[in-house]
Amino acid sequence: MDVDPHWFRTQQLDPRLWLITEPRVHPIFCANMHLVLGRDADLLIDSGMGVAPLRPVVDGLRPDPARPLICLSTHTHVDHIGSAHEFETRLVHPVEADELAAPTPYSLRTDGISEAFRTLFLDAGYPPLWPLLIDALPSAGYDVDAYQLRPAPATGMVQEGDVIDLGDWQGEVLHLPGHSPGQVGLFHAETGTLFGADAIYDGPLLHDGEADSIAEYAATLRRLRDLPIRRVHGGHDPSFDKARMDEIIEGYLRAWGV
Ligand SMILES: [Zn+2]
Ligand SMILES: [Zn+2]
Repeated sequence: MDVDPHWFRTQQLDPRLWLITEPRVHPIFCANMHLVLGRDADLLIDSGMGVAPLRPVVDGLRPDPARPLICLSTHTHVDHIGSAHEFETRLVHPVEADELAAPTPYSLRTDGISEAFRTLFLDAGYPPLWPLLIDALPSAGYDVDAYQLRPAPATGMVQEGDVIDLGDWQGEVLHLPGHSPGQVGLFHAETGTLFGADAIYDGPLLHDGEADSIAEYAATLRRLRDLPIRRVHGGHDPSFDKARMDEIIEGYLRAWGV
């Protein structure tokens, strides 16, 4: 198997915003991490799979690594919380706090993934799973069977209406259930920027197929449609504008018949 020591790809989206991804992770599990640089503190939104150490990469992007750093887990799916344990300040919605404190064990080997999930992913439009969730190793001799999700008990909770304040940047917490029950997004009103996490991105949106979660998801999408959003940075796939967001939302509402 390939060895790719440059595990994370980093891309500056604007003077105070970085995108971090893991290109050697299967597209379903290759999530976006966003680093927002603030005056008094920096904010990391999600922390990837936890295959390779993330902290050094994040600190390398920060003008002052001594400044406080907040790690917000937008929800507790494996591809968003893998490195949460590397950060001292860990925020999550209360509904998913137990999962962050004691994550469901996960393997990089995909043979344990149920038929139901495989079908869900394929039907959503994703390519078939690989034998492993990664197609390269982060270092020679990396033991894929030693992979584990480490406990990262939250040091604080975030709920609807809370504000994450970086001194000169404030993000309002939106509770956006549907993809997962405790899913949160962040809205930066000043620029109309939404960090939509897995509530909305420009790729196949996933829910568990239950009528309840579809209804919740539809309500979340309708709510986003009515917000003064100009730009969306999602939990997966490239960023997009309001027109594309509306198109995505309309498409799903139609497809779900809600
Ligand atoms: Zn995700
Ligand atoms: Zn997710």
